[in-house]
Amino acid sequence: MESKVSLIGRRSQKQMAFGWLPGLQVVMAAVAVMVGLSAFAAVAWAAEDAGSAPSARPGWALVIHGGAGTIVPDAMSEEDEAAYRRKLREVLDLGAAMLEDGRSSLDAVEAVIRAMEDCPLFNAGKGAVFTAAGTNEMDASIMDGRTLDAGAVAGVKTVKHPISAARAVMGHSPHVMLAGEGADSFAAEQGLEIVPPDYFWTERRWKDYLRRKEESEKESREEGSGSNDEHGTVGCVALDRNGDIAAGTSTGGMTMKMWGRIGDSPIIGAGTYADNASCGVSCTGHGEYFIRNAVAYDITALMKYRGLRLEEATRSVVLGKLKDQGAAGGVIALDREGHVSMVFNTAGMFRGFITADGTAQVFLFGENEGESAGN
Ligand code: ASP
Repeated sequence: MESKVSLIGRRSQKQMAFGWLPGLQVVMAAVAVMVGLSAFAAVAWAAEDAGSAPSARPGWALVIHGGAGTIVPDAMSEEDEAAYRRKLREVLDLGAAMLEDGRSSLDAVEAVIRAMEDCPLFNAGKGAVFTAAGTNEMDASIMDGRTLDAGAVAGVKTVKHPISAARAVMGHSPHVMLAGEGADSFAAEQGLEIVPPDYFWTERRWKDYLRRKEESEKESREEGSGSNDEHGTVGCVALDRNGDIAAGTSTGGMTMKMWGRIGDSPIIGAGTYADNASCGVSCTGHGEYFIRNAVAYDITALMKYRGLRLEEATRSVVLGKLKDQGAAGGVIALDREGHVSMVFNTAGMFRGFITADGTAQVFLFGENEGESAGN
């Protein structure tokens, strides 16, 4: 945390090293002191609160999640743990390189989520969970916090990168959300990569599906109620050098979901929201609750209308409202000042953040990683 404060110091020194306009130097020095103080305040405040991580400003910042759930060290092999940590770090670096280069937060969010969709560790793209009918139906959304433009696809079966289809809906259609065959056809028309449905088949998710199917038959439960035991939805929120926030989410949904079921992930305001005036949010968890509670929008609204700070807003929704309702899940969020929040009410959440000063951290579990899981 100290490094963030000193980074601002370094940056200020660099700015003041220019020999021109002594008057400007004074102004810059004053600004530097103010920035330093408020950044310090942010750091000090966040330090009180174990769930948050501050970041340098005005630079850029990026936060990701790879799903929340029963993620505990005992239930994970060392190899799997290493693989998750490696992949999370790899995609953080990918997004960081883009933001460092001055690319937009939207580009970074899309690229990071595409990389996660390509990775079978996550329940998005390749690695998506199975519906009760044994198919893969994916949902994704993306939002631009500068313009409030948004795009989403629901129930797609053949588009290799649902997040890019969501972005195409935002950029190249008059609509916000396309679903089912129409969404797949639109993605094809847009020249996005189309794959046969069995591209999404993975042995691990198929075994999860068979196990869940057997369980539900045995317990003669209502078929197709869905489960998010097999976590792995992915999300990303980024702040770029222009101060613009973008957020995106992509998922295969919940194992054994009913045919045509749509979760929160493609619903703007439920699973994803971004507004430069408050923050960007991407959610993961039991989608039905996230829809009913308009979780992503609720967090931005708490900041906007009630003046809550980012961490207060995320905690109040995830550890208050959702937990009280028995709704498992978590969120990642990022505000215009680069504060990062990663809050969940489950045992763990795959997550990480990276900031302009080079701070990068990846977490899988809860308290054992020195963080409050909020339980
Ligand atoms: N929120 C996703 C859904 O309900 C699932 C998850 O994030 O685990 O479709």
